Amino acid sequence: MPYGVKKWVTVFGKIRIDLPVDDIPKSWYNITPDLPEPCPPPLNPRTKAPAGLEDLWFFPKNLIAQEISTERFIPIPEEVREAMAKMSRPTPIFRATRLERYLNTPAEIYFKYEGISPLGSHKGNTAIAQAYFNKKEGTERLITETGAGQWGTALSLACMFFDLKCTVFMTRASHDQKPYRRTLMELYGAEVHASPSNMTEFGKKLLSEKPNHPGSLGVAISEAIETVRKDPTSKYSLGSVTNFVLLHQTVIGQEARMQMEAVDKKPDFVIGCVGGGSNYAGLCYPFIYDQMNGKLNAEFIAVEPKAVPSFTRGTYTYDFGDTAGMTPLFPMYTVGHNFVTPPIHAGGLRYHGKAPSMSVLVKNKVIKAVAVGQYEIFEAGKIMSRYEGVVPAPESAHAVCAAIDIARRCKETNEKKVILFNLSGHGLLDLGGYGEFLDGRLVNNCEPKELALSDLPNISKT
Ligand SMILES: *Cc1c(COP(=O)(O)O)cnc(C)c1O
Repeated sequence: MPYGVKKWVTVFGKIRIDLPVDDIPKSWYNITPDLPEPCPPPLNPRTKAPAGLEDLWFFPKNLIAQEISTERFIPIPEEVREAMAKMSRPTPIFRATRLERYLNTPAEIYFKYEGISPLGSHKGNTAIAQAYFNKKEGTERLITETGAGQWGTALSLACMFFDLKCTVFMTRASHDQKPYRRTLMELYGAEVHASPSNMTEFGKKLLSEKPNHPGSLGVAISEAIETVRKDPTSKYSLGSVTNFVLLHQTVIGQEARMQMEAVDKKPDFVIGCVGGGSNYAGLCYPFIYDQMNGKLNAEFIAVEPKAVPSFTRGTYTYDFGDTAGMTPLFPMYTVGHNFVTPPIHAGGLRYHGKAPSMSVLVKNKVIKAVAVGQYEIFEAGKIMSRYEGVVPAPESAHAVCAAIDIARRCKETNEKKVILFNLSGHGLLDLGGYGEFLDGRLVNNCEPKELALSDLPNISKT
């Protein structure tokens, strides 16, 4: 155990567990070689053959190498560790003692607080790594799309750190609803376009048909990829779902493991919210590694919104990674790429699919999935705000909600369990949603009657 850990733990009475900055992990943990069954490869949508380098032309080769790597540990470059230190890594774990008292539960509740980053969420962990590896490969400009804005914000600053230009296509609906997000990205040096835009042929076509088109993530991805195709100095960047993004997030769980060890606790429950899967994979994969090696006996719980229930109601099959049908096909739990997501406030959880590696773990019952509703998560966010002072992002409030449920169950059964959850980001730029909740204007009926499972790509039917 590192000396610094014990020292800090004693000082803060086990309520706040900090690691010294030198303990930022030195490698990422790749779960690929440890999966209970191999993850099937992505496929070329036309030939249905395993996707090759040319199918992933919009990513740099060094990130593709990480995507398909079977090495268990991948070293983190010093420049990346240094930039992560600027983003408040290592992040603290807090014990939610006031929340425990409010719930009157015998359970102990701990949360890893990723919202402490100046970017407000965990997304900087991969943004920094992607900017670094792109710079090394000679990329001059990164292009991406953003819905809620957290990803665009993280990539903007990461590009600034590594001297890259950054272009962000932001869905017009969010762009108009959340002008502060745009300002933040521009402050961090990015060029931001409301999508559909006049910058691309696709955008121009949509605007000529419908001048006030609200946009969608699918449209923004199409615009981003068209722009990458036209500028050979540029590459595309993604904030979730791919193996390399999940890999970069494993700093979260490696730190958490050291922190829990420092107070001699082993979690009985490891919980996180899941959009594409990156923050939760980041927390739980290192613990799953311990579990597979007989050092832990925990329950792993992935929390998704009832509005986008790919784990709990969707199907495990090959589907497009994007709504526009331009990417390779990935093996994953999905609600169908044509699914029209209800307009929930947790914008980061609106993606139609789940990361392939996490899908394998859910399919094999290593991870259990639960779904919660929009009203419940805002209620949990309110409790978290009032008793711990932390306003969770609506995405993160899904994890808070599940943790509170379990703590309440522990009260009924009088079990002294240890609950650990990831608080992936703060909600200080999501106060619009909290306002609706407090005023009683929140739309709660977001459960879709039907999913879009009838028009999945053909491979699933062969
Ligand atoms: C983007 C985001 C998520 C969802 O993405 P994952 O890849 O599943 O982590 C969750 N929480 C916050 C705060 C986000 O910004």
